[in-house]
Amino acid sequence: MRLYIRNINLNMQFRDLKTQYNVLKDEMDKAILDVVASSAFVMGPKIKEMETAFAEYVGVKHCIACNSGTDALLLALKVWDVKPGDAVFVPSFTFFASAEVIAMQGATPVFVDVDKDTFNMDVADLECKIEQTKKAGKLTPRVVIAVDLFGLPADFKVIRKVADKHGLYILEDGAQGFGGRIGDRKACTFGDISTTSFFPAKPVGCYGDGGAVFTDNDEWAELIESYHIHGKGSDRYDNVRIGMNSRLDSIQAAILLVKLKAFKEYELVDVNKVAARYTEKLKDVVKTPIVPEGFYSSWAQYTLQLEDKEARAGLQAALKALDIPTAIYYPIPMHRQTAFNYLNLDDNRCPISDQLADTVISLPIHPYLSETDQDRICDAVCGFLKK
Ligand SMILES: *Cc1c(COP(=O)(O)O)cnc(C)c1O
Repeated sequence: MRLYIRNINLNMQFRDLKTQYNVLKDEMDKAILDVVASSAFVMGPKIKEMETAFAEYVGVKHCIACNSGTDALLLALKVWDVKPGDAVFVPSFTFFASAEVIAMQGATPVFVDVDKDTFNMDVADLECKIEQTKKAGKLTPRVVIAVDLFGLPADFKVIRKVADKHGLYILEDGAQGFGGRIGDRKACTFGDISTTSFFPAKPVGCYGDGGAVFTDNDEWAELIESYHIHGKGSDRYDNVRIGMNSRLDSIQAAILLVKLKAFKEYELVDVNKVAARYTEKLKDVVKTPIVPEGFYSSWAQYTLQLEDKEARAGLQAALKALDIPTAIYYPIPMHRQTAFNYLNLDDNRCPISDQLADTVISLPIHPYLSETDQDRICDAVCGFLKK
């Protein structure tokens, strides 16, 4: 009996960062204390080491570490001088930051609907929204922000064609996509500039806020380097443009080096095993996530789609009663956010985003989720839905 009880995790985590820390503890503690002992807290050699390792892993020339995934997006828009009068296309079904940065630059977000199978930007609707914007003649289309939602890269082959046709830059918001692939090519290489977030719950997270910008373009890399440290010129007291204070802490860089190693060695493979097992066990009772042929996800989230809002609320309550945590990503699409009321958008512009906001529910997923816990979750989901 005691053995049985010990096998059941009574405190199941949505994303189990504690178990991860316990696995990495020796290496992690040493990495953190080494930075403390060196007293090189800001910039210093760990930052360069981390930037080199992440650029190499992703397969781009430049990685510039910064303070968050939000700042990373903002830095990209600053480099391209995105400003009032510019239109930036962004999916409506995403985390707020993807759209927020556009407004922070004074530009206008144009919300694009998503595909109901991949949760990513619907490229036909992107074309449509670009044409509409051009026809209205008030804004200058400049950038497409394509999000790798829930770990799955957006359909960049097709997005690139549309962007090229209309002369737009692509900014890949890879905050959730780090580790994903299309063929052999990794996420965070598909944009003219790409970004990621190291928020703790992301595929590779640090122990606080952090982010990075990736690009092959030397000139833009130099500008990002400057913008993220108060617009520095030849040194930090020579300021040649208005910038930000958006450095990554050296301690976070040291943490990320340990995390990247585990991610490369087994975490990414293991989280894919968890996702495959979920799909195997659940695909006959509920709509499970679809990964198109040739695509590989890093599973920032594992998201089911229920019939309607009531069914979702029922499932969430049933799982909660069994101490199984779930989350709704995302309950309000961007075109319905109060902060964007000033855009006076029409009601039916992104119907799939509306539908998803009412029907999605994400299950616990991380590389350390045991098969026992997974079975418990799947049994609970099936038990509820077969009723
Ligand atoms: C988390 C996230 C961001 C913002 O990253 P922070 O590091 O939290 O600033 C941006 N876009 C998407 C899609 C995200 O999930």
